[in-house]
Amino acid sequence: MSDLQASNPLLQTWQTPYGLPPFDRVEPAHYLPAFDHALAEHTAEIERIASAPEAPTFENTVQAFDEAGRLLMRVNNLFWNLTSSETSPALQEIERSLAPRLAAHDSAIYMHAGLFARIAALHAQRATLGLDAEQVRLLERKHLDFVRAGALLSPADRTRYATITEKLAELTTQFTQNVLADESTFVLPLETEADFVGLPASIREAASAAAAERGLPEDSHVITLSPSLAEPFLTHSARRDLRETLWHARVARGAHDGEHDNRPIAAEIIALRQQQASLHGFATYADYQLSDRMAGKPAAVNELLMRAWNPAVEKAGADRALLNAKAVELGEPTPIAAWDWRYLAERVRQADYDLDDAEIKPYFALDNMIQAMFDCASRLFGLQFIEQHGLELHHPDARLWEVQDRTGKLIGTFIGDNFARQSKRSGAWMSVFRSQSGIAGGTLPIVINNNNLAKADHTLLSFDDVRTLFHEFGHGLHGLLSNVRYEGLAGTSVLQDFVELPSQIFENWAEEAEVLKRHARHFETGEPIPAALLDKLKRARQFNQAWTSIQYVAPALIDMALHALPAGTPVDIAAFETEQCEKLGVPADVGMRHYLSHFQHLFAGPSYAAGYYVYMWAEVLDADGYDAFVEAGNPFDARTAERLYRYIYSSGNTLEPGAAYRAFRGREPKVEPMLAKRGLIDIDEAAPVPA
Ligand SMILES: [Zn+2]
Repeated sequence: MSDLQASNPLLQTWQTPYGLPPFDRVEPAHYLPAFDHALAEHTAEIERIASAPEAPTFENTVQAFDEAGRLLMRVNNLFWNLTSSETSPALQEIERSLAPRLAAHDSAIYMHAGLFARIAALHAQRATLGLDAEQVRLLERKHLDFVRAGALLSPADRTRYATITEKLAELTTQFTQNVLADESTFVLPLETEADFVGLPASIREAASAAAAERGLPEDSHVITLSPSLAEPFLTHSARRDLRETLWHARVARGAHDGEHDNRPIAAEIIALRQQQASLHGFATYADYQLSDRMAGKPAAVNELLMRAWNPAVEKAGADRALLNAKAVELGEPTPIAAWDWRYLAERVRQADYDLDDAEIKPYFALDNMIQAMFDCASRLFGLQFIEQHGLELHHPDARLWEVQDRTGKLIGTFIGDNFARQSKRSGAWMSVFRSQSGIAGGTLPIVINNNNLAKADHTLLSFDDVRTLFHEFGHGLHGLLSNVRYEGLAGTSVLQDFVELPSQIFENWAEEAEVLKRHARHFETGEPIPAALLDKLKRARQFNQAWTSIQYVAPALIDMALHALPAGTPVDIAAFETEQCEKLGVPADVGMRHYLSHFQHLFAGPSYAAGYYVYMWAEVLDADGYDAFVEAGNPFDARTAERLYRYIYSSGNTLEPGAAYRAFRGREPKVEPMLAKRGLIDIDEAAPVPA
């Protein structure tokens, strides 16, 4: 053992309970040398595989490639989890210097001609190698990773491809920075008491904090374009003129003439993506992107989106009439405009669906809801969660549970880190310290879920918080229940329009009356939640869904249309958007959640380009999938749960997702349950027909 290994805990075998990282011994100074060592080790492993004198076999090439880089993965997982959950200036500085190195390392691997030659040779003979289904799947996925990185291109095309990729990286970064620039220059000052009419105290406080953050004089209040401030303002402010100003400022982000204009940048990104698709042999970029998603073809996506679009537009008509009546009642002008919709909808919601947080929250104590999700996992999959105390974790707020299957066998470790703090990024997410794998004794997963709840003696949740908790736990179960041989296919490493199925379907149990009656108990009295309150929760869920659907589906359709332009079609972004909105008939008083000049899903990077639809795709699967339990007449039906475990939660990426879903459900997914859940069609139209 070298001196470096001897002194650096990141490079030693972790002799800790469950193989946890030795949190108490790792210092920021250990990371760079550990990354140096781990990167070099991975490169050497790749070279050994690529230059082996033996002819390529599945074991010496595909499996060896899958197993290579374990040390790098271990260090990287720890580092990434810390920079997300418990960061520091020292870690952030390391992060900045590491990002380009890790990107370069990855690209060197996927451009390695020798390694690709061996994988390609095996891929060509995959039908005759005597491989089982999981091995063929691993070989196909690895081969595809190389192909999508440009490995099949001629040397000249590869150079062109690399130039395009580099240019795209530059443009997408510029795009994001331009949005940020427009967001940071705009403020809507609230100066007199009249500017605050309608605003709850929480917005006043946030507006004061926003002013302080921008270095404005004490006692200033400003509304910024940050969604967490702008959206509540549009919902509550009684000042129509201020709402209008803010609404226009949001829409215009990235669409100002001058140095921060995103319109020409977006057009250039589209042109380069068209070239990328051509080089890969696809007619359009949408075809290229969809070829590696469950949806498969742009037509399948458009069909789904249109099925939601038409009833949403129709239903919005009825909602519009309601809001216009409310406007008249309040003495507001009609017809209503886009900057009125949220405000008036909130007035209607308060009058007709009043859900008072203070009334609901006492029934949703965090600890009770953790017990509720564990109980669901136990009734569905036979899992037991046993808390372990006294272990050193990354932060004292984090808790650890040992996870056992129904025979008492250890299957993994679950860490819950639920509280907000300055050193944690915002949002909620699931990640791993270690993935599951089944080769050579295998490894058990170490899963971590993060939330950003406010810590209190009794942390009480809103129902949205409860849903988020269950959502992330669904991802967590996808990691914990993974039961595959090859790490590259484990847990959540599935296609992008499939990965939200295990998380979104799990949210359904949070809404199940049986679960709530058992676990949603008043934190002081222990009384179960009253039935009337449960009913209100359910009714409120469908309120204003036509508006939400239009706001989401319109940009999803425009995303698809834009990326379906054939190669060599120049595009004027603003004109294209106007034309598409007219063609679709996007109601002017509803508008869209994103406009192209600031649509970061599309232009901040490639992963959601021709992919904004994935949320609704997963929603179709989750609503239709959960109906299997409804049809069985039991939310914990054992046979349905067994199929859900086998084909969805435990199979990782070993199955083609369409096939996995059909195996679970016994048929293709239906769209109606999603539409019914959004209130876009009548429940009767979607009622499951008993088999
Ligand atoms: Zn998710």
